Amino acid sequence: MKDVSMEKIVNLCKTRGFVFPGSEIYGGLANSWDYGPLGVQLKRNIKDDWWKTFVESRQDMVGLDGAILMNPKVWEASGHVETFNDPLVEDKETNKRYRADHLIEEVTGIDADGKSLEELEALIKEHDIKSPDGNELTAPRQFSGMFETSAGAAEEGKQKIYLRPETAQAIFVNFKNVLETSRKRLPFGIAQIGKAFRNEITPGNFIFRTLEFEQMEIEYFVEEAQWEEHFDKWEAARMAWGKSIGLDMDRVSGDDHAPEKLSHYSKKTVDVMFDFPFGRQELWGMAYRTDFDLHQHQEHSGQKLLYTDPNDNHRKFLPHVIEPSFGVDRTLLALLVSCYDEEEVDGDTRTLLRFPAHIAPVQVAVLPLSKKPELQQASERVLKIVSSKWRAEYDETQSIGKRYRRQDEIGTPYCITIDFDSLDDHAVTVRDRDTMKQDRVPIDELVAYFEGKF
Ligand code: ATP
Repeated sequence: MKDVSMEKIVNLCKTRGFVFPGSEIYGGLANSWDYGPLGVQLKRNIKDDWWKTFVESRQDMVGLDGAILMNPKVWEASGHVETFNDPLVEDKETNKRYRADHLIEEVTGIDADGKSLEELEALIKEHDIKSPDGNELTAPRQFSGMFETSAGAAEEGKQKIYLRPETAQAIFVNFKNVLETSRKRLPFGIAQIGKAFRNEITPGNFIFRTLEFEQMEIEYFVEEAQWEEHFDKWEAARMAWGKSIGLDMDRVSGDDHAPEKLSHYSKKTVDVMFDFPFGRQELWGMAYRTDFDLHQHQEHSGQKLLYTDPNDNHRKFLPHVIEPSFGVDRTLLALLVSCYDEEEVDGDTRTLLRFPAHIAPVQVAVLPLSKKPELQQASERVLKIVSSKWRAEYDETQSIGKRYRRQDEIGTPYCITIDFDSLDDHAVTVRDRDTMKQDRVPIDELVAYFEGKF
């Protein structure tokens, strides 16, 4: 496994326009990040590829785009109001807050996830755990992870509502609507991509843990008897997708949760773990949620959410659910870590991002050797040809060496250089990012050449 530092990744993201600190000109807002021109394109490519793989190319999947703000009863039914809490301790001197279970694990190595407040307090006492600044800690207490806001103009008529902490609930709430309109039969799934918000106690590690992030979630509805078979299929499907977008599979592993670590809705959870520069952490989750959510929403809403089996005497039942859940931002970070590379070339260090061609923010760069008008005109013709099919960027600033370097750093797989010979032989030089090998290709054959590559 290559050695990659977060410092280098964060720095590259800032200097090349992938990710900027949020609200930077006002001194920033802790743990908020804005995606720049290349970051937003990379993010879009990840989401588009996910959607294509898991929705568009499958007959057993449909999509949904639910609202972020939902009736607060949704969160009572889902159990979030009552249980979406993390144990928090506070430094008595600095008032900085920490996740009690994380702190215990850092100091003692004991996995304290899922332990009760009393158990956590006992562990803190037993191991004499202090804050990272060396101060006494308060007793652990529960802290709600949901952001609250209110709707309504008049003060007295205001209603407390929440920013959704996951996209999943919009899917359950629309189960009946989708079932009736899409006419899908079990097994089938509903997918959604969208923002989620969590008031995390200890956000950090760049875009790994933030208060606002994007999720790509699937609720896959099955017969109870078949849940294990589908769980296994989804495990394989998500790994195959991870590999296809360029994740370094040597950094990927699975974590099958012990029963005491399971969420309130889950009977089995297997997370995909990734070796980030700051340690092995959850990249994606997958839970068998049983019929918990549909059952809860049926009870709380008073609406029947049953599925009728046309092949089994119109038997009515609540389907069970497998939920593969992916974080967009964590995927993007894992991809940057996977694709980052440095090479010695002629005594210099060349930095590159080895993105697969279909994921790279820019796929082809068009670079005239100089700013001479005749080369600009020829380059414009080439740009027109390639940009009709691929994400292309035109750049005529600086020396050609510096421009190659920049394209390597942003992960562009191919650079086309138009030189003075191009005006006579109607051919251009195509440089491969990874091998730095150059091919002379007639302009008329460029499309066929790249079609063979992409
Ligand atoms: P963690 O244990 O790291 O807090 P989780 O188990 O609470 O994560 P899930 O509820 O399973 O996470 O959410 C599904 C996915 O959403 C995660 O696998 C991750 O990719 C992403 N995710 C969750 N919380 C955050 C966050 N605060 N910032 C960025 N991505 C997140």
